[in-house]
Amino acid sequence: MKKLIVALGLLLALLATGAAVSFAQDTAESPDGSLDALPPGATPAPLPTREPRPAPTSRVSGERMQVELFFQTLPQGDIGLVHVTGDDVIEASAHFIERRIPFYPIENDGFYGLLSVDMEQIPRRYPLEIEAGFEDGATETLSLEVDVVTGPFIAQDVTISPDKGPLLTPDTERAELARLESIFATTTTERYWDETGFQMPILSRLTSPFGAFRTFNNTLNTRHTGWDIRSTLGTPILASAAGKVVYAGMMDIRGNYVVIDHGYGVYSGYAHMSQVHVTRGQTVAKGQVIGVVGNTGRTSGPHFHWEIAVNGEWVDAVRFIERWIP
Ligand SMILES: [Zn+2]
Repeated sequence: MKKLIVALGLLLALLATGAAVSFAQDTAESPDGSLDALPPGATPAPLPTREPRPAPTSRVSGERMQVELFFQTLPQGDIGLVHVTGDDVIEASAHFIERRIPFYPIENDGFYGLLSVDMEQIPRRYPLEIEAGFEDGATETLSLEVDVVTGPFIAQDVTISPDKGPLLTPDTERAELARLESIFATTTTERYWDETGFQMPILSRLTSPFGAFRTFNNTLNTRHTGWDIRSTLGTPILASAAGKVVYAGMMDIRGNYVVIDHGYGVYSGYAHMSQVHVTRGQTVAKGQVIGVVGNTGRTSGPHFHWEIAVNGEWVDAVRFIERWIP
């Protein structure tokens, strides 16, 4: 009896601290999402907005180039901004975790580059090489090191209707990720976004976070590649920034899905739509309606799933829009 009371006490303590691991993926308890609709005129919970330009956390000077880093360590699933300046620098790039990352020019402000870390990257120290090319044909490389640290990920149990069983096989998961990987493999060396940065595609409550270790119906273990946002069916979905539509169509898990290429390895994805309002190859403006919220693909109810990939790695989309990026 005493053991039972201790166990019950522990359970209550867990619930009180919010440590329960079962999260709703979406609006499972309200199939039409109406429970979560805000009354007219209500103010939504604080939504992520972009930070002002931060001071660099470190500076390194070479012979002809200067490098500023805007991060101390890089958590799994996060990005890091690097700035290269110097007289006569005409190009810059980084080599980090098996990848060459081209930097983008900003008028009168040198070159900026976005490092990215996969959510499953082993936490340890990695070499970072920054290379600059100069007008006279010379190049210079600075060798630095970056600590990749563990990301802040939770665990979730998700239950979806048994008739969506075929969407719970590891093969379906792998095939879709491979398809996305091939879309993200292209790095367009044109910056489509502008100095105002990226925005939330829907101004509504964030529910299920990026990177979560998910177990579907006690069978499939996977990772959450984006954020879920509560929303009612038919809510317009806005492009997070300007770019070019590189995918608009059906996918098994993501349902009606749109991918926008924002240039320099940055892609945003918008899933589970009921209607898609754009086509492949189309250029979109920041804030343009690209479709509406639906319930297509692997869902347990209407909701919106939004994700961002940088240099072929899924990154935390909310952290991404919070970051100051020129
Ligand atoms: Zn999701």
